[in-house]
Parts: sequence; structure tokens; C-alpha cells
Amino acid sequence: MDNDDKKKNRKKNIKRFFRIAGIIIVAMLAVDICLTLLFTQKIPHRYASAKEGKELMLSNTEYYSGFTQNDIEFRMKKSGATMDELLDASAGEVRDYSFFEKHFIDHEIAKMAIKTAWNGYDIPEIDEIIFIKTDMSVEMGNSGYTHGTQIYLNSGFVTINSILSIFPGFSEFFDELLWHEYFHCLSRYNPEFREKMYSLIHFTVADSDFELPPSVLERYLSNPDVEHHDAYATFIIDGQEIDCFAAWITKMDYAQIQSDEDSDKMVALVPTDGSDTYYTRECASNFDEVFGTNTRNVIDPEECMADNFAYAMFYGIKGKDAKGYPNPEIIQGVIDVVSH
Ligand SMILES: [Zn+2]
Repeated sequence: MDNDDKKKNRKKNIKRFFRIAGIIIVAMLAVDICLTLLFTQKIPHRYASAKEGKELMLSNTEYYSGFTQNDIEFRMKKSGATMDELLDASAGEVRDYSFFEKHFIDHEIAKMAIKTAWNGYDIPEIDEIIFIKTDMSVEMGNSGYTHGTQIYLNSGFVTINSILSIFPGFSEFFDELLWHEYFHCLSRYNPEFREKMYSLIHFTVADSDFELPPSVLERYLSNPDVEHHDAYATFIIDGQEIDCFAAWITKMDYAQIQSDEDSDKMVALVPTDGSDTYYTRECASNFDEVFGTNTRNVIDPEECMADNFAYAMFYGIKGKDAKGYPNPEIIQGVIDVVSH
């Protein structure tokens, strides 16, 4: 074989390699698109336009009516801010989803449905989840939050993930977030599921909401993911067992600190007996035993269990990178609830 033949052969082989690689990639994409189409609506959902998203957001009047002046100032990062300013700013940051973003979220939801089916989990059904995209500055730059069965996602976070999800593992936090927000929808939609989940961290759901006493109310921060203050656990405070519910508060008034750092917020343990006081987590010697330490998101049983649910569903009992959990019994409890 002369040099020309060798060159021709090499060219042929390279061409063949690219043709086969191309066919494999197209086939994989076709399978991926088919799986997305087949599974994504197993968790029924749709996407609101910016116009509908604004209307839906502003229709959550009960949420907005619970705001205190301190709360408004913290969110608007401005002393003397008004509710009208907050509503305008909130509605003004709702956006449309692009075609690619919708496809990306469909794809990630299909992965959730496939995982659920593969593990044989029986997760309560929801009629419909509505996704709304917002810039999220009024909600303190969060990646996501919920109202009812509406899931609000951070616009920048969605865009970056939809583009960079081609890199394996990039969308891991996004997937975890979807499971977390999904939990909030499930927990509202199915009280029995909520009760079972809260009991895994020693919280009991009462018949009605506890009232926030004045000392808590003046520092109270509303959290759209937490619709009720009706769950309590027994905390050991100064050697005494005291039933408390959790509330998210600022350490000082906005006027005093003029900033919006995470370190300025904390969980308050509020006695259920109506006394006008609250305890910090450091006051409760069994705080970590109650909430467990799988997550640092322990501002409310709703948030704590949303994280534990996300870990259980997304990483399973072995945990992220098979590193396990400080409290595997909570994760196993979640798996048991959806495995019946
Ligand atoms: Zn949450």
C-alpha cells in the first residue's frame, strides 16, 4: 500500500468515525426527547406567561396581607417602603419562559417521574403545578419559592441551568431545588402526607394556626413556602419541656441594621401557650435532635422536611456521593412513607 492509499484509508476511517458518532448522538437525543415527552406530564405542570404569572402572584392576597412593616422594609431594602411599592416590584420582575427553558424543565421533571417510577414510589398526586419565572429580588434572591401549587423559579438560575445542563452534573442543584419545591406543593395538597413528613422530625400538626405574639410579630419575616404556623415540637429549654412552633424573624428591625444579610435572620421558637416571648435555637438543648442535622435549613419544619424529601428522592439513602447523612433515619422515614 503506498502513501496515497494510506492517506485515503485514514480519511475514510475518520469519516466513518464521525458518521457513527453522529448517528449515536442523534439516537441518544431522540431517546432523550421521547423519554421527556413520555414522562414529563406524569407530574402534571404548565408554564405561566409573564402576564398570567403576575396575576397569579398578586392573587396570593393572604400571603401579602400577613406582611409587617419590618418585613416590607427588609424585602425592599428601604426604610419606609410601602406595600404598594412591594407589589409593584414583585409583579415587575415576572418574566416569560423561553422555549429552551421550558424544554429543560420538562426534561428535569421527566427525570423525577422516571426516578419515582423506577423506585416504585407512590407520591401523592397533584392536579397541576404552574411554573412562574421571576427575577426574585423581592424574595431575597432565592432560587425558588412556592405559593399553593405555583412554583416560582429564579430567572437567572433557570437560564444558566438550561444552557449549561449539557455538562454532566451541572444541573444537580437545580434538580434538588425542583424536588424541594415539589415537596411544598405536595405538603399543601395532601395534609396526611404533611403530617407524616413532619412527624419524622418530631413535629405534630395542630388543628389550627398558632398566633404570633407581638414580640415575634414585630420582627417576623414571611416565607411563601410556609403557609401555616400550626406544627409544634417539644423543646427542652432551661431543663423544661416546652411545646413551641417555629417562626422566621429578623434579629433587629430593618431601621436598626439597614442591611439584608442572612446572618440577620433566625428561627424563633415560640411557645404554643400564647405567652409573649420566644427562644433562640441556642436556648433549646435538644434543637438538633428535633430537627436533625441533615440540612441547615431549619427555620421551619416545612423547610427542613422539603430538604430531607429532596435528598431522599434525589440522592436516595446513600446520600450525595454515597457520603450518607448525619440522620439517615429521617431519609429512611421519607422513603418508607412513599414506599407503602
Ligand atoms: Zn422551601
